[in-house]
Amino acid sequence: MPGAQFAQLDESIHALTQELPRDIHQQFTRLLQKSPLAIVPVVNGVCTACGMTLPVSLVHQVHAAEHIYQCPSCARLLFHRASGARNTRKSPRRSDPPKVGIERFSAESLMIPALKGTDRDAVLAELCQKLDDEGFVDDAGKLLEAAEQREAIISTAVENGLAFPHVRCVEGGALTFALGIAPKGIKFDPAGKANTRIIFFMVIPTAASAFYLKLLSGLSQVFQKAENREKLLEAETSEKMWKALVKATRLAIS
Ligand SMILES: [Zn+2]
Repeated sequence: MPGAQFAQLDESIHALTQELPRDIHQQFTRLLQKSPLAIVPVVNGVCTACGMTLPVSLVHQVHAAEHIYQCPSCARLLFHRASGARNTRKSPRRSDPPKVGIERFSAESLMIPALKGTDRDAVLAELCQKLDDEGFVDDAGKLLEAAEQREAIISTAVENGLAFPHVRCVEGGALTFALGIAPKGIKFDPAGKANTRIIFFMVIPTAASAFYLKLLSGLSQVFQKAENREKLLEAETSEKMWKALVKATRLAIS
């Protein structure tokens, strides 16, 4: 009877939790109240919850696992990926490699090669809906509202037909962006020209704010170059767009 098994599991969890040192117990309970992700793996020296690059010494400490360590940015408890559940596989070498570079922040499924909208809000709505449809956010409507409020303060459109709309202070999840192309160009900045064609829509968890700046500077650096913009604009499918993005950012975003 599954109900009884769950009750038993709850009881074991409760018993184990009681054995934790008092401060860790309190920390763990506090984290759980905020998000079900209280304990997260470190992959390639990065906290997989908030995206912070951890100090090398901390990565080694987590690996050695003599004590319990927290991410300095999001405070979650950390464990070394290889010492986690994955290690029990028979052939760990065949397991998927950890995501690297731009793959940590986006995916082929988040590329829109031809946005249908002809104005800023319609385009923002499409990008929000994409993030929702693909399961990266829960509430496209709320996200759109926050994005529009952000644009009202000051436009995120920049030179060369690029725009970086974003929503900060998203609870949980990871730093993620969807990318859309407006083939004919739209007037993203009410005071600007109707020439915005490449739109990166970013969702920024509170804890990943510093990491966001790094991603933003990497992307804007890469796409200041006309050839990189052209490769993106030429892509007719999500697959080609994603390939162009991965290739262009390979050296700039680690
Ligand atoms: Zn973290």
